Amino acid sequence: MSTVETHVFQAETKRLLDLMIHSLYSNKEIFLRELISNASDALDRLRFEALTKPELLGSDPLEIRLETGKEPRTLTIHDNGIGMNREELIAHLGTIAKSGTRELVETLDAAESKQQLAEMIGQFGVGFYSSFMVADRVVVVTRRAGDSQAWRWESTGDGTYALEEGTRETTGTSITLTLKPEDKENGLEDFAERWAIQRVVRRYSDFVSYPIVLNTEKDEDLDKKAMGEEVEVRMEDKVLNSRQPIWTRPQSEVTADEYNAFYRQVSHDWNEPLEVHSFKAEGRFEYQALLFIPSQAPYDLYYVASKPGLQLFVKRIQIMERCEDLLPQYLRFVRGVVDSPDLQLNVSREMLQQDRHITQMRKWLTKKLLDTFAEMKEKRNEKYLTLWKEFGRAIKEGVGSDFENKDRLVELLLFQSSQDAEKLTTLADYVSRMKEDQTEIFYLTGESRTVVENSPHLEAFREKEIEVLYLVDPVDELLVQSLNEYGGKKLKSIGKGTVKLGTEEEKKKAEAELEEKEKDLKPLLELLQTKLDENVKQVRLTNRLTTSPACLVGAEHDYSPQLEKLLQKGKGGGAKQRRILELNPNHALLGKLHEVFEKNAEDERLGDYAELLFGYGLLAEGSEIPDAPKFNRAMADLMTRGLEG
Ligand code: ADP
Ligand code: MG
Repeated sequence: MSTVETHVFQAETKRLLDLMIHSLYSNKEIFLRELISNASDALDRLRFEALTKPELLGSDPLEIRLETGKEPRTLTIHDNGIGMNREELIAHLGTIAKSGTRELVETLDAAESKQQLAEMIGQFGVGFYSSFMVADRVVVVTRRAGDSQAWRWESTGDGTYALEEGTRETTGTSITLTLKPEDKENGLEDFAERWAIQRVVRRYSDFVSYPIVLNTEKDEDLDKKAMGEEVEVRMEDKVLNSRQPIWTRPQSEVTADEYNAFYRQVSHDWNEPLEVHSFKAEGRFEYQALLFIPSQAPYDLYYVASKPGLQLFVKRIQIMERCEDLLPQYLRFVRGVVDSPDLQLNVSREMLQQDRHITQMRKWLTKKLLDTFAEMKEKRNEKYLTLWKEFGRAIKEGVGSDFENKDRLVELLLFQSSQDAEKLTTLADYVSRMKEDQTEIFYLTGESRTVVENSPHLEAFREKEIEVLYLVDPVDELLVQSLNEYGGKKLKSIGKGTVKLGTEEEKKKAEAELEEKEKDLKPLLELLQTKLDENVKQVRLTNRLTTSPACLVGAEHDYSPQLEKLLQKGKGGGAKQRRILELNPNHALLGKLHEVFEKNAEDERLGDYAELLFGYGLLAEGSEIPDAPKFNRAMADLMTRGLEG
């Protein structure tokens, strides 16, 4: 007699189960897709292990078999795949071993709607537990290929599961669901019934490469019965799925629904893909790819833990669920399959990285995708804007990492600009609008469009109607590091260095004037600098301001304040940079300050004003004031004095 052990589910698993059971999830039918996909995975794994241990394969054909029971209503999913031993049962069906589980449960808890919940569950692919959406009892009997002992797992989803020795003639797994009686009473679809099963299998699992067999009433007999004939209805095995891999069929013959269903299977994304592309390479080395561009970025696209990769098939057998080497890192958002008859079936992950076939495929797939993006940009601009909104950051990453395709990637970039608040612009379009005497592409980085738009740095540009690109995505800082120029035009931050606008002649004249004024004001500027020495390395005059009295800039090779902040958050902390305070010589404030200074260079107000001007510059660029109390004191003093007399 074997003993029954009671195990407690891992805390996260239990919460997940509770969510599944109680969230009245509207898409319950996906449980079957999940269980069939697990069965199919188990068969793939058996096939894979059998490459080196052929004795593992029995004489029966590999298949997934569905069986129904009437009272109580049950549905059993049998497979003769790899099976599980005791440890695997505990590890796979008692815990959620996958990384990111905690995040999953947290995001599920935070989900705002049922629909959102459904999408999340789909994205994480927490398949097995979805059984409890339709079943109030689940029994798993399984035997690992190569083992003689079978195991029986049972749970009602209440926080514990029972484990004991079981009996099974052959290797593989059988999962029996006792369907919830109340679902039927409430008129929900009955998954112990042939039509429901058939519909769901066709919908989600049609391309599963193993036959999904249901032993059911003979159609012929049912027809006769329907016509009023008296017949005894016989049973027969029916294969429910068509099995032909979708990527082997010509794109014109596959319906959008079929593509959508397949996309869901490979991506666990419930949205429809933005575009589907089927590519075929013929020649000495053959391969085929079916690639999907999602319409929405997954929540974890920009996390280190995000798991990219295309499914890799060799002769229609899946050898890798996520092969990261088929695309460069920055194209990780693309989903799909690649199938090649020329690869080794039992190739290891390490070997793959070295495989020149894989390298060749990666180059080719990258080219195909960049062609597609460029075409979308030209011909399907609406769609391209969606692509850009969801994955633009990834494309920007590519500019810095894919040297070979850098020029093509740069053409794909879109930016906000001072030209048009509604429309994004390409670099090519910016250049086409450049003023005759303009030699550089001007940009300003900042936290948001509003901050940048109101920045004093823009004043002179606005007056002269010179277009400035607004780089308001945090990664733009990194992008401009790798993008020094475009079409022979240098990219220039208007928050750094000095600005010179206009024709050569105008520039010369303006500069001479500035120098003249600076000579006059030199002692005052030096005094202000000394007062601000901790934060400011230079105080100088500028032509870039028209209405503001002051702004802060960096030296040509300084980091922007946003990047500095980013670096300071990082490990090393990042050194603090001193800024340059630029003053507007045409602003009344500077004239008045100079008067005060001329009268008495020791006047206390000069220190306060230095502080206030520095604070003004910080606020204008969206930075925080490091010593806010000091700024406030100076401000309060000033306000008081303003009311005197
Ligand atoms: P996923 O399939 O995404 O890994 P699931 O919750 O669907 O997550 O399944 C968890 C694990 O349980 C699987 O990875 C697999 O190891 C194991 N498993 C589930 N069903 C089967 C089965 N029919 N045969 C063998 N192992 C299975
Ligand atoms: Mg699964």
